[in-house]
Amino acid sequence: MSRVSDHPYLIAPQPQPVLPVRGHRGLLPVHRIYCVGRNYAEHAREMGHDPDREPPFFFQKNPDNLLTGGRFPYPAKSSDVQFEVELVVALGAGGVAIPVAEAAQCVLGYAVGLDMTRRDLQGEAKKLGRPWEVGKAFEHSAPCSELVLAAETGMLTRGSIKLDVNGQRRQAGDLSQMIWDIPHQIAFLSELFELRPGDLIFTGTPAGVGRIERGDVLVARIDGVGKLAVTVV
Ligand code: MN
Repeated sequence: MSRVSDHPYLIAPQPQPVLPVRGHRGLLPVHRIYCVGRNYAEHAREMGHDPDREPPFFFQKNPDNLLTGGRFPYPAKSSDVQFEVELVVALGAGGVAIPVAEAAQCVLGYAVGLDMTRRDLQGEAKKLGRPWEVGKAFEHSAPCSELVLAAETGMLTRGSIKLDVNGQRRQAGDLSQMIWDIPHQIAFLSELFELRPGDLIFTGTPAGVGRIERGDVLVARIDGVGKLAVTVV
């Protein structure tokens, strides 16, 4: 005998990915995760590229790749998983073709993030001209701290960004070293995609990226934003 369903879905929908917000009970519902490639000159050089001011390029992670707990499970199919500390920008407003001069108004807040990367799989994809998802968009590949509202921090244009692994400094830079600043990133992205409230942008990593091992403790800090601590398990 058939039975009328209590809800309109054939199967239960997956949970909405969220970020906690410092000082607020409401959570940020996350829509998409955009990532900017090679946005600090020293990192572009360490990856073997010329950091001349080419237009920015983007890739995406899946919203449900967010990791808000402190344990990063070492992923399958890689023996070269690497950290990239990044400032994460959360949008409170979106749109298309947003002018640079208006883009800052879209910023809702900031977080400290890690763009975890299966570098061996990404390298193979690059070499073969294949998409980057296998290297970038895997489970738990986007560890992220709580959000701090821009109303509290003001617009971030400078401030140190760093990552320690097991107490040793591995990455250090300053937000002012971004090749494309946050308003330009938003403007470029909005030419390509319709941006929405709840979108996150991982804004690129400074030099010093490197390999992790199980047991490593990663502590990322960005001045004025906060701290993210993750143990590799
Ligand atoms: Mn990155």
